[in-house]
Amino acid sequence: MAIINRIIPSAIIALSISSCNMTEKKADNFDYTVDRFADIEVLRYKVPGFENLSVRQKALIYYLTEAAITGRDILWDQHGKHNLVIRQVIEQIYTGYTGDKSSKEFLALEKYLKQIWFANGLHHHYSMDKFVPEFSQEFFTDAVKSLPADKLPLNEGQTADEMLAIIIPEIFDPAVSPKRVNQADGQDLILTSSVNMYDGVTQAEVEQYYAALKDTTDLTPISYGLNTRLTKVDGKIVEETYKVGGRYSAAISRIVELLGKASQYAENDAQRAYIGKLIEYYTTGDLRTFDEYSILWAEDTESQVDFINGFIETYGDPLGMTGSWESIVNFKNNEASHRTEVISDNAQWFEDNSPIDPRFRKPEVKGVSAKVITSAILAGDAYPATPIGINLPNANWIRAAHGSKSVTIENITDAYDKASHGNGFNEEFVIDQETRELMDKYLFITDNLHTDLHECLGHGSGQLLPGVDPDALKAHGSTLEETRADLFALYYLADPKLIELGLLDNPDAYKAEYYKYMLNGLMTQLMRIEPGKDVEEAHMRNRKLIAEWAMEHGSKDNVVEYVTRNGKTFIQINDYTKLRELFGQLLHEIQRIKSEGDYKAGRELVEKYAIKVDPKIHAEVLERYSHLDIAPYKGFVNPVYTPVFDGNGEITDVTISYDEDYIPQMLRYSRDYSPLTK
Ligand code: ZN
Repeated sequence: MAIINRIIPSAIIALSISSCNMTEKKADNFDYTVDRFADIEVLRYKVPGFENLSVRQKALIYYLTEAAITGRDILWDQHGKHNLVIRQVIEQIYTGYTGDKSSKEFLALEKYLKQIWFANGLHHHYSMDKFVPEFSQEFFTDAVKSLPADKLPLNEGQTADEMLAIIIPEIFDPAVSPKRVNQADGQDLILTSSVNMYDGVTQAEVEQYYAALKDTTDLTPISYGLNTRLTKVDGKIVEETYKVGGRYSAAISRIVELLGKASQYAENDAQRAYIGKLIEYYTTGDLRTFDEYSILWAEDTESQVDFINGFIETYGDPLGMTGSWESIVNFKNNEASHRTEVISDNAQWFEDNSPIDPRFRKPEVKGVSAKVITSAILAGDAYPATPIGINLPNANWIRAAHGSKSVTIENITDAYDKASHGNGFNEEFVIDQETRELMDKYLFITDNLHTDLHECLGHGSGQLLPGVDPDALKAHGSTLEETRADLFALYYLADPKLIELGLLDNPDAYKAEYYKYMLNGLMTQLMRIEPGKDVEEAHMRNRKLIAEWAMEHGSKDNVVEYVTRNGKTFIQINDYTKLRELFGQLLHEIQRIKSEGDYKAGRELVEKYAIKVDPKIHAEVLERYSHLDIAPYKGFVNPVYTPVFDGNGEITDVTISYDEDYIPQMLRYSRDYSPLTK
């Protein structure tokens, strides 16, 4: 299975989550929606269970959240070398503006500021394209010149005009730094990407530099380039290391100080040890130390509070070497984690009862225990847009030898779900009130169970016949593998075993997921595809394969059908029991294909059911979706934590509040957590 170390709520996942369930009013009185601008919706999330943590755990979380927010500017600078100066200038204009705040120009500046805050820089967080300001260069220049010089982030001896000469093309000229990360084949990916992890070097130079550095015989290699910026000094390539005393020293030193305070409240020795190792790594910049830290971190499965803080994921580097700074502080949701533990503990029962040829069953199977967590703060590359699941560490040899942590951030998925109530999606696409009510009630839990079964058991189930090449299915391997894991989950979602295990309380609950799955696979996921294009992405192909196959093979019994109401197409499921049987039959066949390495049969299934889009249905879905006002991208503001101290400076409690809005939070972070700005 492909390691997806970051489950991102974009494309498919956001879809399944944001399209979850709808009622006219929200499920509780909490106000999830904070702001809406451009293609963005900003939400807030709850931190259920925080109040029940011990004072010690709360104090630990408090210092870790401070360390998290403190790294914000590191990411801003990694994203672009003029980002921090530009942010400061625009924030100064925004907060000090004395003209008409309802003018078109000022409102356009506000929108732009909200966009760059959201992206941690001048480029869209997802498309990587530079934002286009809707205010004029003249307005901007006048506004800057009307600011007192001491409000401007000028370098020693620099005039306002000199600063403007640098930042104006960055903001206004579409030809300057058009893309943060360029992945277009055949171009110099370093020179055409404006990301600030490289400066003054070409792609060929970077590749030569690392090729010379790498020891290919090393079985435990370090993550080369993870914490450095590559540049040239006197014509020679050098790595500037992110560490205390190195690049980003002011921010990293403060993070180290806060980690030191957090360490005093560690839950146990294992946790204290990995916090100490992280401090050592930030102090030395040594990537061997980072690996030691990663091992200690991966092996600590006892602590309830957990966090990441550092240069982790490499999607922001066109060559996938340097990590973008991020932090997520969280604690285990014991009740929800119980769900994945129960599933894992019963892995053998599921394997033994799987509707596949007994020759392809694993005699001994071990489930993966994914933990469900509650996020307490999102920061750096995880803020405001955030993943809903993480699987770390990234180094393959560490994963193999020391294990990894796979987590689902359930208070975030819950916020997506709640905020989508009332956005009109289900009213538009779900066939009737009865089905909508079932989805309202059971889709959140069955969606989560589907993910658990897919991840904890589905991928790990079954075995290859002796001598079969694991890569026999070639280019269709990942689609068929996702198909297999999804079918395993779908089949068992309807099994009475889940009720017996206490994971569901209603034998009809699975129908909510079945309906959503068929609707998504046959129709609604097409909203992500441009007219005339094929389905490309493996998960989308797998969903289409399953849904189209079941539709066709159930047609003689009329199991699932398209019906037309008021000129609109709907999916109608007439026989859920038979639909489950069809899922079982397809699982039987897909497992055979995988176990025997039957490339030809696999290819035929993918080509027949997974790729080609019916242009008529596609056009209809796009048309109906366009009338719904749903923001394609979502992100979050954080709650605010306030420590309560006694007379001796000891923390006696930490309170949490949810009343800070988007603009005040961004301005506060810029004011109070900006060690890298002037
Ligand atoms: Zn999968």
